[in-house]
Amino acid sequence: MKYDFVIVGSGLFGSVCAHELTKLGKKVLVLEKRNHIGGNIYTENNNGIQVHKYGAHIFHTNDKVIWDYVNSFVEFNRFTNSPLANYKGDLFNLPFNMNTFYQLWGTKTPEEAKAKISEQRKEMDGIEPSNLEEQAISLVGRDIYEKLIKGYTEKQWGRDCKDLPAFIIRRLPVRFTYDNNYFSDNYQGVPIGGYTKLIEKMLEGLDVRLNVDFLEDKEFYQNLADNVIYTGPLDEYFDNKLGKLEYRSLEFRTKTLHKENFQGNAVINYTEGDIPFTRIIEHKHFDPVKTNHTVITEEYPSEWKEGNEPYYPINDDKNMLLFKQYRELAKSENVIFGGRLAEYKYYDMHQVIRSALTKLSKLEAIL
Ligand code: FAD
Ligand code: UDP
Repeated sequence: MKYDFVIVGSGLFGSVCAHELTKLGKKVLVLEKRNHIGGNIYTENNNGIQVHKYGAHIFHTNDKVIWDYVNSFVEFNRFTNSPLANYKGDLFNLPFNMNTFYQLWGTKTPEEAKAKISEQRKEMDGIEPSNLEEQAISLVGRDIYEKLIKGYTEKQWGRDCKDLPAFIIRRLPVRFTYDNNYFSDNYQGVPIGGYTKLIEKMLEGLDVRLNVDFLEDKEFYQNLADNVIYTGPLDEYFDNKLGKLEYRSLEFRTKTLHKENFQGNAVINYTEGDIPFTRIIEHKHFDPVKTNHTVITEEYPSEWKEGNEPYYPINDDKNMLLFKQYRELAKSENVIFGGRLAEYKYYDMHQVIRSALTKLSKLEAIL
């Protein structure tokens, strides 16, 4: 059987491509090395509770086209992410907003909070931030940096904040309103019934082979189709011949508890450096269900090594230089590379969908 496209990876990037190409009348084969579809957004049903197997996933976007696109497959609820931070037993609201400032300093008005922050960030006056520590202090000052950022970030990335790029922290909003919404986007939610349903809908009726590692017989699988879309790690495609790109990995420790409600919130971050996990997720609060049990996951960051899942690309100068060399090699391959791993990019879900749709629109010549 000859296909028009072999798609490597059934994550969001691969699944959007598979769906759109099938709609255009193309014959598509999806290969997935895991034993399930969905990549990192996969959810598993635990007696009614949708468990986010690879960490909490909240869909958020300002792009109405992308929001309508995902809602055309499954209905989303309105889940507003309002995580808490636990620092040495005290709780603080996130993202940094008037509630956090009140909890830290007792400030009650935006003027009081702004005055406090401007005093706290004085050491950065006139300095352009060049790393995450400087960026954080320049944004919210030293107190918040020490209590709510430093420990969490250094656990998460396994590096000193001075050695991390500033952009990581720019994702976090700072607000002078009493608003605990972690995201500023107009649209936000999770699919009712889980993300796996979303991917199942995208791949409905398509040929999908699980437990197949494309790289174990690249030539054979490449010959099954005229075109290949590859969403795995870019360096692995080239057999790591220029060296290894680095990632951050995570270990998820999931427990079922025989109680209705463990922590009263979907996400609680543990921001001190001495506690080895970064956060505890209580899955039932994303897509609320009435059950007598609950499922929680502790998230332990770890150094990536062969055999671990590569979750977060480390976009520092050293790795970006290597990535660009791989990207040059990729230009001479007759393969479309896309997604979080092949583009070595810290992508959110809405960005992955946008990127897949844009890449497909540029394929007009072969479609
Ligand atoms: P992936 O989901 O990684 O899919 C790639 C697939 O390719 C995988 O299934 C893999 O097994 C398969 N594959 C790789 N190599 C091969 C091979 N050789 N042969 C066959 N198959 C192969 N985004 C948000 O918008 N909101 C969030 O709240 C959010 N939270 C996150 C939390 C965590 C802990 C992490 C890690 C990510 C989070 N994201 C979030 C990002 C989101 O997970 C990604 O944007 C999205 O899943 C990327 O999709 P992808 O298809 O590019 O990659
Ligand atoms: N962050 C932090 N303290 C927190 C939460 C986040 O310092 O309590 C920082 C940290 O550097 C992290 C970044 O903000 O890497 C982005 O966090 P987010 O939770 O948005 O990222 P995710 O891990 O969900 O992709």
